[in-house]
Parts: sequence; C-alpha cells; structure tokens
Amino acid sequence: MTATYDYLIVGAGFAGSVLAERLAAELGKKVLVCDRRAHVGGNAYDHADAAGVLVHNYGPHIFHTNSADIFAYLSRFTAWRAYEHRVLASVEGKLLPIPINLDTINRLYDLRLTESEVAGFLAARAEPIATPRTSEEVVLSRVGRDLYEKFFRNYTRKQWGLDPSQLDAQVAARIPVRTNRDDRYFTDQFQSMPKHGFTRMFENMLDHDNIDLALGADYRDVRQRVKFRHLIYSGPIDEYFDFRFGRLPYRSLHFEHKTVDREWFQPVAVVNYPNEFKYTRVTEFKHLTGQQHAQTSVVYEYPRAEGDAYYPIPQPANAALYAQYRELAQSVPNVHFVGRLGTYRYYNMDQVVGQALTLYKKLAGAESKNREGSDAALGRSRVHDQSGRQPLLQSI
Ligand code: FAD
Ligand code: UDP
Repeated sequence: MTATYDYLIVGAGFAGSVLAERLAAELGKKVLVCDRRAHVGGNAYDHADAAGVLVHNYGPHIFHTNSADIFAYLSRFTAWRAYEHRVLASVEGKLLPIPINLDTINRLYDLRLTESEVAGFLAARAEPIATPRTSEEVVLSRVGRDLYEKFFRNYTRKQWGLDPSQLDAQVAARIPVRTNRDDRYFTDQFQSMPKHGFTRMFENMLDHDNIDLALGADYRDVRQRVKFRHLIYSGPIDEYFDFRFGRLPYRSLHFEHKTVDREWFQPVAVVNYPNEFKYTRVTEFKHLTGQQHAQTSVVYEYPRAEGDAYYPIPQPANAALYAQYRELAQSVPNVHFVGRLGTYRYYNMDQVVGQALTLYKKLAGAESKNREGSDAALGRSRVHDQSGRQPLLQSI
C-alpha cells in the first residue's frame, strides 16, 4: 500500500526540520522529511572526522540571534555552549581584528588613536554616500578606499566572483565598523553553539513518532512513491519549477578539510585571507566546539560557481528573476516554499528558523480554519469525526 502523509517536506535543514517538528508535535500531522543528502541538518550538519574531531562539513556555522523566542525554541532540543565568535584578517603580514575596530586601525597604521580620535580618522577618509546601493558604496561610505581595498574588495571578488560594486549593499553591510575595541564578529544577545553539535540537535527535533525520514532520497523520486496533501519545499525554487524562467544564480564552495598533528593551528576560530591564496578563510573547529583533542581539524573554503547551491547572490537582476518564481509559487496550491534556497534569501540560521515558525503559524491557522469549516458543514464535532479531510494528492 502507498504510504500517505499530511505533509511531505523536502530538505532536512533548519527550514524543513523546524516545520516537521512543529507539524508533528503540535498538530499531530503525519510528516515525511526527505533529503537527497545522506544526513539531516542541511548545511549545518556536523560530524566527527576520522581523527574524532567534531567538524562542520559545509563550513563554519556559529549560532547567533537577537530573538529570545527563537533561542527558546531551539533550546528544547539542545543544551548550549557559550561562545563568542572572533575573526582575524590577514592583511600586510598582520593578523588584524575584523570587523574593523580601533585595534585594527592602530595596528595596521601603527597609530595610538583613542576611540574618539578614530571616529575622526574614519570620517576624514569615508566617502559620503547618502543611500549606499552596492557593497562597494557601503564600505567606502564607512571607512574609505584604503581599508576597503585592504579588507573588502579582494575578499568579495574571491567569495562571489563579482566586484563589490556589482553586489547589493546588504552583503558587505553584514560586517559592521566599530570605533571601540569590541572584536566579536557578532553582537547578538544570544551567541552559542549546540553543546553536542548541530546534528544531535536536529536528531532530537526529528525524533517523533509522526515523522518519517527518507535520507539519500531526492524529491523527484520520493513524490512517485508516497501520497501527500501538502508539500513544503526548502530546496532551490528554480529547480522545483524546472528552471522555467532560467537559472537563479547561486554561489558554491569547495571545502578542503584537513587534520593537523598538533593541538592548535591558529589563534582564533576563523582567519580571513582577503588578498592572498585562492581560499577565503580557514576555520579551526575546536575553537567553536570547545572540544579537547591532541590533534586539530581545519577547513579551507574555495569559492566557485559550480556545485551545491550555498549562497543566493544578492543582485537586482537575480531579485527580479526570483520575483517571477515567487509569483508562480503563489499560484500553486498546497505547496509552500521556505528557507535560504526556497525563498532565495541570504539568511542566517536564526532567520530561517524564524521564517519556518512563521510559515508554521500560517499553516496551523489554515488547518484550524479547514477543520472549523468542515465541522460546521457536517454539523458535528471534529473530535468524533475526521471525515472532513481533503483528498490526497498523488504528486504535484
Ligand atoms: P539547507 O541547510 O541548505 O537545507 C536544504 C536541504 O534541502 C539540503 O540539505 C538539501 O540537500 C535538500 N534538498 C534540496 N533539494 C532537494 C531535493 N530535490 N530533494 C531532496 N532534498 C533536497 N548561518 C548562521 O546563522 N551562522 C553561520 O555561521 C553560518 N555560516 C555559514 C557558512 C556557510 C559556508 C554557509 C554555506 C552557510 C552559513 N550559514 C550560517 C547559513 C546557514 O547554513 C543557513 O541559514 C541554513 O543552514 C539554511 O537552512 P535551510 O534549511 O534553509 O537550507
Ligand atoms: N567580507 C569581506 N572581507 C571580510 C569579511 C567579509 O569583504 O574579511 C564581505 C564579503 O563580501 C562577504 C560578506 O562581507 O561575503 C559577508 O561576510 P560574512 O562573514 O557574513 O559571510 P558568510 O559567513 O555568510 O560567508
């Protein structure tokens, strides 16, 4: 007999797993989560490597949020390890704090400026632009050309294969500029790492009798084998529609993982290389996880055009193309797009969790309206009668 589900969810990353958990645990829905990868967690997946060091398969993932609700929600599935992320950039032979702060400037230029003096130093160099529209304009308007060229221009070209002048302001605007000595990468209220890793957290989320998992299973095959009423899709939206309007560009990465036979490799979790090498940054995982081990594992990130989709590319033409897909998506009943690839947004993990919880509320509202509607039509209480269900869809 063909298995039947209330929801088929494509993708076991944050978007898919949050929705599966909510629909199963809160609404008692039967859910099948499929992922074409052989594991849960999406890009946040971590595992012990051959040396036994906990590594992030798809590059460093640091959890940070200003939302107490999102933090509380995830805290149901994991304990945390307090961790504040720090990054150094290799510039002119020095390892300097990035985001740019007072120490970055003093050490780069061999100065002894105070907090108030450095504000004047930056103001004298910044190129005022009323409404910066590109990543180049954002940085020039904050710190001027020299710091732009030393820290941002080449890193961005490497990471995106584009000049900062071709990228939306939001990309470089992720990195603030500080006149104090705060050298944390993020200033969010909640900054922590899941104590036993991201994968364990996902396993806890998905551990429910109403959730079935199909790993190593592509949606295009799964949809032939099961029946489902609703589809939640967190894969690339253009792929779902067979690239009808053309391909949405995504930036990919090649990850080179390495274990080194010494206790520590570098002074902080991440060192950025804006101007040297083909890789953008090197991450040493033990700084993130707090693991103690005689050896240490690192990953080098090499940006590239081809490969798994990791980053939507924030540019006006891509936003316009995505808008076409979004409009098409809105016309397909019972199919819901979510997540970084499903909605083509450069979202952090917490933003994806927030987006998934919002979609859940919408779906829960619609489910309760449907129940009320069918109860009223049948003139009886749904507690005694489930017959008001909609017909199942074989495939979409
Ligand atoms: P994903 O995690 O991409 O999950 C989507 C899943 O869908 C994938 O597992 C994919 O295999 C599956 N899928 C797609 N198509 C199909 C199909 N046809 N059939 C079956 N399965 C399919 N965020 C932070 O907050 N902090 C960080 O430090 C951070 N660092 C990052 C570093 C890197 C290198 C990258 C790439 C991202 C980083 N992020 C970070 C962002 C974070 O990874 C995302 O916000 C989050 O993982 C997105 O979750 P998602 O569920 O939308 O997508
Ligand atoms: N960036 C840069 N130099 C740096 C760090 C960041 O030019 O040393 C720019 C670059 O364009 C990068 C963007 O800022 O893609 C956002 O950086 P973030 O660290 O948030 O990128 P992610 O972790 O998402 O790859």
